[in-house]
Amino acid sequence: RIVYVNGEFLPEDEAKISVFDRGFLFADAIYEVSTVLQGKLVDNAAHLARLQRSVDALNMGLPCSLEEIEAIQLEMLKRNDINEGGLYLQVTRGAADRDFAFPKDSKPSLVMFTQSRPVIDTAAAQNGISVVTTPDIRWQRRDIKTVGLLPASMAKQTALDAGANDAWLVEDGFITEGTSNNAHIVTKDGVLLTRALSNKILHGITRKAVLALAEETGITVEERSFTPDEVSNAAEAFITSASMFVTPVVTFNGEPIVDGKPGKVAKRLRELYIAFALKSLK
Ligand code: PMP
Repeated sequence: RIVYVNGEFLPEDEAKISVFDRGFLFADAIYEVSTVLQGKLVDNAAHLARLQRSVDALNMGLPCSLEEIEAIQLEMLKRNDINEGGLYLQVTRGAADRDFAFPKDSKPSLVMFTQSRPVIDTAAAQNGISVVTTPDIRWQRRDIKTVGLLPASMAKQTALDAGANDAWLVEDGFITEGTSNNAHIVTKDGVLLTRALSNKILHGITRKAVLALAEETGITVEERSFTPDEVSNAAEAFITSASMFVTPVVTFNGEPIVDGKPGKVAKRLRELYIAFALKSLK
């Protein structure tokens, strides 16, 4: 694989980042993952806009313009000859002598790598996934997409150890989101319920596109928090993320949701999202 590090395209085993990089020492770093279909980026403008929002929230700055970042992204797709998968991008505050205070003069670092994998035809999309609940022990600014992912990684491992595919996180009795995805249910009345945007969840790029598609198709969308009990009694559940698009959740805390098969709404929204993704390619 060819990776990108601060101005250079290099074989992955030749790329270097400083031991003093604040991304490494403090998780003082922002990331984005854009999905690749047909060798092109899905909804990338939205990912770059969120990157800007995240770095602004941390007063971090970017090493170059968003236009230049996109040019590097497209060059990465070419050099890696990737057809389907993901492009990971990370900006850190850069290297500085270790100190909690933000350094005055550090230069932000930019790294990128690609991951080749199927996105459209997956077992998860076909059969749905199983989810268990775990307490949400993350920080209070989940709207900033930082690489401080240890709590999410722990929750994912807890889910895997319990024989499930993923965890939905619970805070104050309500689901916040999945470890790396937004959580949605469809009630028995056909209402799509999803938590409203706040600093409690990541403002998913896929969530936004899917809610717009749902409304266009006449599905009633209600943005409010829901409880694990409401999930157990739902007609359907599903997740959204750039990596998984719309993926049905068919088992919740060890119990099937209705018949344990992917729901109609989730299937329809996945089809609509794939069509949207193909139109957004750049
Ligand atoms: N929530 C969390 C915690 C995530 O890590 C992700 C994936 N980055 C999402 C939601 C989904 O966001 P997106 O649709 O932009 O990938």
